[in-house]
Order: sequence, then C-alpha cells, then structure tokens
Amino acid sequence: MSESRRILVVEDEANIRDLIEVALRFHGFATVTAETGEKALRLADRKRPDLVLLDVMLPDVDGFEVCRRLRADGNQVPVIFLTARDTPSDTVTGLTLGGDDYVPKPFSIEALIARVRAVLRRAAPAAPDDVLRVGDLELDEAQWTVRRGGVVVDLSPTEFRLLAYLMRNAGMVLSRSQLLAGVWGWDHGNPQVVETYVSYLRRKLDPLGTPLIHTQRGVGYALRP
Ligand code: CA
Repeated sequence: MSESRRILVVEDEANIRDLIEVALRFHGFATVTAETGEKALRLADRKRPDLVLLDVMLPDVDGFEVCRRLRADGNQVPVIFLTARDTPSDTVTGLTLGGDDYVPKPFSIEALIARVRAVLRRAAPAAPDDVLRVGDLELDEAQWTVRRGGVVVDLSPTEFRLLAYLMRNAGMVLSRSQLLAGVWGWDHGNPQVVETYVSYLRRKLDPLGTPLIHTQRGVGYALRP
C-alpha cells in the first residue's frame, strides 16, 4: 500500500478522532486532524490530503457544507462521511454532494480502514509496487489477490490483512498482541483470535508448498520462506 497516503480526519469528538488517527497510523497512513469545519477547509487546501474522513455533526460548519465548499473550490479529494445520522435522506444528501462513501456511527475501526482503502483504490489505480513478495507467495494489496506459486488463494478480508501484515514484517517474530494491534486495531483482546486466523491461513497456504508461518513458542509468529 502507498505508505505515505495522507488522510485528513475531521471530527470534533477527541476520543473518536484519536482512535481513528491511531488506527490509520498503524496501517501506514499519514494523518492530519481538524476538530472544526473551518479548520478542515484550511487543511484540505494547505495539506492536500489524499482522502478526507468527514464527520457530519461538527460545532461550526457541518460536514455536508464542508464537502459542498470543497467541491465549489474545485477540490475533488475523496470524501467519506462519518455520522450518527444514519437515515437514507442523509446518505443521499452526502453522496449527492460529491461524497464517495458513507460510514454510519458506531463503526468498527477495521471496517473504516477497509472503506478508506477501497475509496483510495477507486480514486487512484494501483502502482506495481503494491505487490508484496515472500518466497513463492505474492500478495497484491491493490487488487486484493494472493497467489502462491502462481495459484490463487482465496482469503477472507481478515485473513488477507493478517497475511499482508506478516509479509510486510517478513522474518520478524510478531507477538500475538502486536498482531492484534496491527491487524485488528485492538489494544486489548483475546489472543485466541490471532491463533484462530493463523490456523486458517496455514490451512489455505500449506497445501501449496512448505509451511511459511512459523510458531515461536510463547512469543508469536514469523513468516519466512
Ligand atoms: Ca461530531
């Protein structure tokens, strides 16, 4: 993934803003934040973000108006609206105004990151360097495809993200809590989830060659050829 993509996070609630910012950084994005609509408009102009996560309910100018003004200025940056107002008319308003997507609150961070990636992918076609390779394993982050020895491996979104994380850190032993934070965005959680998904990955990858995911007992996992 393009590691330097910059996301403007516009949200007046500090705890939600922080949560989003931390998660985006975990996933390799750069961030700028604004707590008001006016500041968002200034930053959108000055910082030229690749995408805007735009809360609708802001203390000054609402998110719809921010989007309207961006478009009026000729700024076509992709916009994803965040809002608690989950009514069909709001969805239509947001999309009519030139928003690219709409995420109702409360949302899971994982789902939000997936939307960000999907909108960025639509906005800018993949560069060839979006492909991760380890041994005979090949993962294309832009196309969401995985091949081992040329054979397509069908993965769920979580399996895909876990594998991508392991491949980006190939050769390193990653603890279960590191994986929980990096893949799921959880500071706390049941490490059993990691074990379960590692076993799913092994079941799909191991029949195609020698095992790639190695268990470091009492520590975690490492992916290496
Ligand atoms: Ca708000």
